[in-house]
Amino acid sequence: MEIISYYTPCPAPACAAKHSSARAASSAYAVKAAAGDAAAGSLYDAARPLAAGQSESAFRMIRKCLKTLRRPLCIMYGALCVCGAGILLISYLSRTAPVVELAYLPPAELETLNMAMSDFVVSMVEHAGSEAIPEDMRDTLKPVYTEPVSYSQYRVVSGDTISGITYRFGLKNISTLISVNEIDNTRLLRSGQLLTVPSMDGVLHVASADDSLAGISARYGVPVEDILDVNDLAAAELSDGQRLFIPGAVMDSTALRKALGELFAQPLSAAYRISSYFGRRADPFTGVASSHTGVDMAVSAGTPIYAAMSGKIAAVGFTNVYGNYVIINHENGYQTLYAHMLRKAPVSVGQRVAQGEQIGLVGSTGYSTGPHLHFTVYKNGKLIDPLSVLK
Ligand SMILES: [Zn+2]
Repeated sequence: MEIISYYTPCPAPACAAKHSSARAASSAYAVKAAAGDAAAGSLYDAARPLAAGQSESAFRMIRKCLKTLRRPLCIMYGALCVCGAGILLISYLSRTAPVVELAYLPPAELETLNMAMSDFVVSMVEHAGSEAIPEDMRDTLKPVYTEPVSYSQYRVVSGDTISGITYRFGLKNISTLISVNEIDNTRLLRSGQLLTVPSMDGVLHVASADDSLAGISARYGVPVEDILDVNDLAAAELSDGQRLFIPGAVMDSTALRKALGELFAQPLSAAYRISSYFGRRADPFTGVASSHTGVDMAVSAGTPIYAAMSGKIAAVGFTNVYGNYVIINHENGYQTLYAHMLRKAPVSVGQRVAQGEQIGLVGSTGYSTGPHLHFTVYKNGKLIDPLSVLK
């Protein structure tokens, strides 16, 4: 069956499962095609004795019959080939990057993986930079607010997320609901909870005694007229504790990440110097350009290292690169790696640690030029810049 030759097995094990289904589909076609061939073959066999001894008209009839049968068989064959190739192409294109469970990899493989993923992340970051809106275009994209804000109530049901509710009500920014409802931590959202949903995106601002409308306007970058219109205010006078809706404003990223429970605590409480940032850098020993998988926090040896977030110890070990290291698995697909520790960490695999719990001491073991903590953060198996989640 030639159709088999259209199937080229992919070397990547990740897509073997997908291909096996495509292969199954192809072989199903192959079986069908085989059945078709067998039918044609038996007609040929039947034709032979007839051609040898019997009347020409019977022979012609069978040949005619064969001719008419062969064309649909050929068409069917061709269509199946195209379908098979299509399925393979689709399965190839829809293949997503495999999520790697780093915690269960031997350290040597982890190291190789780190380098590979670092390349990936850096190229993504560089790419994203080019898509930013130019400064001079931003003002023209801002909407104008003239209608007063109105509110509706929504009762949270099981399975709801803040972003889901946001989009359902035609809002665009998740900080709107978090701010208006003064949610400290979205992970603590419970079914049955009542949420206030404003008719437009924006944030809540509770005025203090020394607040002025001009000051609030400047702070959020929203015109005074918009604030007056949306809050249906006639005068520009504010009272202490007055609740204002600031249309189009967003929470600052730190407050938002804190509310989303995505903020890490510093792994060091002592003052440190960042001796190497995440991404491209020159190798500290050879000077050759390479990818740095985390941030290096230079501080004296023996400084305590703390868990940046609560979680479960996933690995405790030693490699020539990382020296004594610890990996912690956190909620929401986060993992952190702490390297070059002074000595083997006093924690064990499977142990639960709280945010801020001591997990080791700063050292210079492994591939290191001096005492520092190498701190790496993974999100869903991919490296991210630790400074993007640290306070
Ligand atoms: Zn480092």
